[in-house]
Amino acid sequence: MPQTSEVWDLIVIGAGAAGMMAVQRAAELGLRALLLEKNRKPGVKILISGGTRCNLTHNTNVAGILEAFGEQAKFLRPAVREFPPERVVEHFHQLGVATKLEPNGKVFPATDRAYDVQQALWKSLLNSGAEAVLGEAVTQVNREPDSWLVTTAMDRYRARRLLVTTGGCSYSGCGTTGDGYAWMRELGHTIIEPRPALVPLTSPDAWVRELTGVTLEDVVLRAVPANFDIDCTDVNERLARVRKGATITRRTALLFTHFGLSGPAAMDVSRAVTRAEQPSDVQLVCDLLPDETVESLESRLQHECQQQGGRTTGRWLSELIPQRLAVAALERLRLDALGRLAELSRDARRGILRELKSMRLRVDGSRGFAKAEVTAGGVCRDEVNPKTMESRLVPGLYLAGELLDVDGPIGGFNFQAAFSTGRLAAQSVRNAN
Ligand SMILES: Cc1cc2nc3c(=O)[nH]c(=O)nc-3n(C[C@H](O)[C@H](O)[C@H](O)COP(=O)(O)OP(=O)(O)OC[C@H]3O[C@@H](n4cnc5c(N)ncnc54)[C@H](O)[C@@H]3O)c2cc1C
Repeated sequence: MPQTSEVWDLIVIGAGAAGMMAVQRAAELGLRALLLEKNRKPGVKILISGGTRCNLTHNTNVAGILEAFGEQAKFLRPAVREFPPERVVEHFHQLGVATKLEPNGKVFPATDRAYDVQQALWKSLLNSGAEAVLGEAVTQVNREPDSWLVTTAMDRYRARRLLVTTGGCSYSGCGTTGDGYAWMRELGHTIIEPRPALVPLTSPDAWVRELTGVTLEDVVLRAVPANFDIDCTDVNERLARVRKGATITRRTALLFTHFGLSGPAAMDVSRAVTRAEQPSDVQLVCDLLPDETVESLESRLQHECQQQGGRTTGRWLSELIPQRLAVAALERLRLDALGRLAELSRDARRGILRELKSMRLRVDGSRGFAKAEVTAGGVCRDEVNPKTMESRLVPGLYLAGELLDVDGPIGGFNFQAAFSTGRLAAQSVRNAN
């Protein structure tokens, strides 16, 4: 058990991806480092991540990671440069975790077991000489003249420097109840309003919810402000407007559920919905056949109408998209699925193309923090030095991981950010020591 009277070089609060990486690195660099975690187990979120497989990073380079973070790239650049994805993979290999790469660029442990990642981080932490106290929630952090006083329900600990890695406030059962926000506010930091991100979306439309179970493997989903006018009869013009208005675009799988939309495409664009004042301020527009152009589809349809005019519209459409979606799309267009292709009017054909290339999917909310893989918002990035992860407002205070206003897309980017920022923070503490 650590001595209460001891003044640690560094106390890290929160044994998640960022905290474990940081405390291990700090000890490896010779610091006397202590990790405090409220759960009895370290890395609880790691265990449930990636469907219990833990997608630990993405197979790309520094530029690829930064691109995925958009406007947050500038802030993350020093951290990701310091600990890029190939070093993350190498690090886990050194810890005995073989990795495998999936075609979509996601990197997983070869065993498909998040447990192996969590255990590797935990063991390396213990081997590094760092100490850890589990099952003790920090209740208060106080800045004293030369040190930090960290209070838990059981004890008080002192350190010269403090690194807070308490994560966000999604999946609160993992211990992430947003405790760090209150401490940071008290210390003068601005908290950008936490919002659910990477979260399934709810739809007000029964026809969407009735499609529960339908999966589209490869679509382009775009979030467009609802007041951005996309309506026009020319399908190419409509698509151009959708592209112009889109605030987020994702090409991946989409899943219809009993509440609305899920799967990586919906989750990735969800931040546009949760960021809006009203969820209905955002419309989602889906290109169901991204490899087809409007012209190629038009000529396919025309050819079919001429050559196979006796076929039903429903049958033709369900060769392109799942049958239930085809029926729903035709119902929305007030077209008879049993009607003959040859009988389709020009307007009807245009309507079908519009649905295929720019189907509008209304949303009215998200499944909230309970189902959000990540929290958007958090400690304002401008108030943290990206080269060190030290607070610009409070000397000796460092921040890393999801507690910061940093959130990336699906694909291992969030762990990458947590590992990189945690590692950089530890190195900066060492340099400052
Ligand atoms: C279901 C799910 C699946 C996910 N899958 C992936 C994935 O495959 N790939 C990916 O990149 N990202 C994934 N994520 C996101 C990823 O898990 C997080 O971005 C990442 O864990 C953030 O790491 P962190 O160290 O900042 O915070 P966390 O891992 O959340 O750790 C914070 C820790 O702080 C502790 N803590 C909080 N308050 C206190 C306190 N008062 N005292 C002591 N300890 C405290 C918590 O108990 C927790 O252990 C997933 C998230 C979820 C919820």
